[in-house]
Amino acid sequence: YVVVGVLGFVGSTSLPEVEQVSAVALVAAIVFFLAVGGYAAVAFTIESRRTRGITRRRMAAVSVGAFLFIGAVVVLFLGQLLLDDPSGTRAVGQLAALLAGAAFFLGFVPPTWIRRAWREPDLRAFLERSIHLTREPDERRLVLELGRMAADAFGASGAALGLADESRGILRWANQHGWDEYGSDEFVGGQAFTEQRRIVALDAEQADPEHAEAYRTSSAHTIIAAPVTSEHRRLGALAVYADRAPIFVEDDLWLLELLADQSAVVLEARELTAHLSEIRAREDATRLKEEFLSAAAHDLRTPLTVVLGQAELLERRLQRDPEARIDPAGVARLTREARRLRDLVTDLLDVQRLDQARAVMDLSPVDLRDVLEEVRLRYVEHEVALRVTAPAAPMVASIDRSRIEQTIDNLVDNALKYGAEGEEPEVRLEADGEEAAISVIDHGIGIPEAERDRIFERFFRASNAHSITDTGIGLGLYICRRIVEEHGGRIEHLPTPGGGSTFRFTLPLVAAAHVAAAAAPDEAPAVGRDGWGIPLTADATIDG
Ligand code: ADP
Repeated sequence: YVVVGVLGFVGSTSLPEVEQVSAVALVAAIVFFLAVGGYAAVAFTIESRRTRGITRRRMAAVSVGAFLFIGAVVVLFLGQLLLDDPSGTRAVGQLAALLAGAAFFLGFVPPTWIRRAWREPDLRAFLERSIHLTREPDERRLVLELGRMAADAFGASGAALGLADESRGILRWANQHGWDEYGSDEFVGGQAFTEQRRIVALDAEQADPEHAEAYRTSSAHTIIAAPVTSEHRRLGALAVYADRAPIFVEDDLWLLELLADQSAVVLEARELTAHLSEIRAREDATRLKEEFLSAAAHDLRTPLTVVLGQAELLERRLQRDPEARIDPAGVARLTREARRLRDLVTDLLDVQRLDQARAVMDLSPVDLRDVLEEVRLRYVEHEVALRVTAPAAPMVASIDRSRIEQTIDNLVDNALKYGAEGEEPEVRLEADGEEAAISVIDHGIGIPEAERDRIFERFFRASNAHSITDTGIGLGLYICRRIVEEHGGRIEHLPTPGGGSTFRFTLPLVAAAHVAAAAAPDEAPAVGRDGWGIPLTADATIDG
């Protein structure tokens, strides 16, 4: 085409001297150039639309050149045929032929700086997208995405990245559902990996007849592949395939190598990120253990000192006078501190158990009003009044009753601890769409706005808690959250209007059809916890 272009240009300059060119020959020439040149120009235009990236730009330049060239020929020949003085059309034709030559030049042998500028947008797109991929946890999705991005950058029909497993001598290729494993020298990609060089198979079926069927079914007529290698390790291979041979192979190979290198960077970065988060997780676990131990040691020590001191006092008194009257206040203090100790140990054990397994064991349909009533009565026995409000109709949820009672106890204990002096905490049960909502409301110190998000983390205590008490380890709400979430509900803290805290949690309600079953008399022994966290069975008594 270039030769024809040059001939056309040179020929057009000598046309005036060839006076004897016949009209018939000129018309034949016009028809010939319109047909052959037009076909080529249209074909290049269509092809350029099918591809992307630098190939598209080069083909577009060629098709522009082809149209300009036809234009030049037609103008020159028509001027010669129809005008007395064709010098004007000759100048236009010559200019068009010159521009056509320039366009062909850009398309077929573009200078390096133009190539760079044309490749830049595709490379940039690939790099930008690949940065986000280093955080992709799913390896298969990462590999599929890298393949898609490489195919996009080439404008090819597809691309695949095979990951090497050197110990087994295989390459793993991702598909939509899992992985295909092949020997590390199978397929064109495997060959590039084994030989550690780029490979161009213009006709893949011919180059690798053993896998001809696979190439045919995936319309991989032409394949170019390159090894993906980091400085020290052979990581895999990148293969780009298309249903027809590429026109500008040298550009494609250059791009392929760049993408293969970038893929190696992504794979390595991802490995490092995964390694880093493993180290972080280990550090977190160690830190939590340390916090756990120091919090436990600190909080167990205080009540233990009181218990021991009180017990030693009683012992000394009894040694001095075996008939001495036992001091009721001392015994009460002993009991109170022993209970605190037991609560702490229960919480600590609970958290450990929660971290290893589920908290919620046996779910059964229960009317939540009964649960609230039981909690209320238990507090009454300890001379603590609660204001309980509940709807008149049953509200049945499928719950682990002892765990839900433990949750309410925890919230009520907190309301008593952090609530206003002498107030009766309110426990409210209400329906909220398909769910039941239980709120425990107090008018005490509340929780500073900035700390509300963290209140359900383990060991977290709000900055204002210490003004009330130093006892407390920050595990109660964490345990509540775990229990509620395992029931499929949510727990949240809301400020009480006028000051104070409202802790509200939801539980999914059982559909009306199942409620009848719950209404049947319950044969199982009632299992709950007293206000201080001890599980109660039917034959355990609170004051025993
Ligand atoms: P603890 O009470 O043992 O510290 P919790 O997990 O029960 O642990 O509560 C965590 C923190 O949440 C408490 O230290 C306190 O700062 C805050 N908190 C809990 N309940 C209330 C409440 N009703 N009012 C104000 N602050 C509360």
